[in-house]
Amino acid sequence: MAEENKTKKEEKAPAKEKPVAKEAVEKKAVSEKKQAPKEEAKQEDKKEERPERRGRRDFKGRRGGRRREEKEEFDYTTWKPKTELGKKVLSGEITDINQVFAQGLKIAEPAIVDILIPGLEKDVIFIGGSTGKGGGIRRTPFKRTSRMHKSGRRYRMSVMAVVGNKNGYVGVGMAASPAGKHREAIQKATDKAKLNIIPIARGCGSWECLCGAKHSIPFTVNGKRGSVKVNLIPAPKGIGLCVSNEIKKIMSFAGISDVWCKSRGNTKMRINFVMAVFSALRKLNVYKIKPEFEKNVGMIVGKVE
Ligand SMILES: [Zn+2]
Repeated sequence: MAEENKTKKEEKAPAKEKPVAKEAVEKKAVSEKKQAPKEEAKQEDKKEERPERRGRRDFKGRRGGRRREEKEEFDYTTWKPKTELGKKVLSGEITDINQVFAQGLKIAEPAIVDILIPGLEKDVIFIGGSTGKGGGIRRTPFKRTSRMHKSGRRYRMSVMAVVGNKNGYVGVGMAASPAGKHREAIQKATDKAKLNIIPIARGCGSWECLCGAKHSIPFTVNGKRGSVKVNLIPAPKGIGLCVSNEIKKIMSFAGISDVWCKSRGNTKMRINFVMAVFSALRKLNVYKIKPEFEKNVGMIVGKVE
């Protein structure tokens, strides 16, 4: 009886919005209870929610997404900058993002990046996961976490976004929002990624290549976050991105086409893995480089004109 009460309470919360959904949930719950053994009571609860939620999420995402994408176009004519930097950008005093980095100014408005770096692309990094049928984890863009409430569980989800122009600028950002507001969460994460944008130093630091083109990184760098340690190593032309699939998104957005990556620690924790790589990329701008070395490897920071 206790189990049944629990499940009913959980079902009630989403059912308030849609009475049709409630029936579907109950039907599935009944059919699954017949099959599943009682030992896996907790897992059973999850299974009941998932198919229903997934279906609705897709439905909502597709419909709402298309409608809102039309609105998403940023209107610069109505934008009112709140910061000094924003006012300078709008008035045309600052026309290059490199000026911002050179002066060490902090970007506090996403619109600044939109104006200064045209052709910015965005993507979502798969940080979430749900246990699959045949074992293992099915990766999802949304990481769902729950907290316990009197009347059941309350969900929140977080998203990690990456932005870049595929030519020397990249940013990673993360944001959370209440369950069901997927679009909002992605928008928030994208805005944060824009604020975190950094210039990438590129060159050819591989001793096998030394062509002086901008296809790799100029020297080896290390990054760390949590238990994850990352080594990024310059690779010769034609090697490609020898990194995991999620890291490929960052590298391609940064404009790097050949690189090796060695990692250590709990790289399953994707948030830490991605941030470790990002911190390594950040280090490309930290060191002071001799001019001769810069010439040899053809190092360039930021975009190529
Ligand atoms: Zn090369």
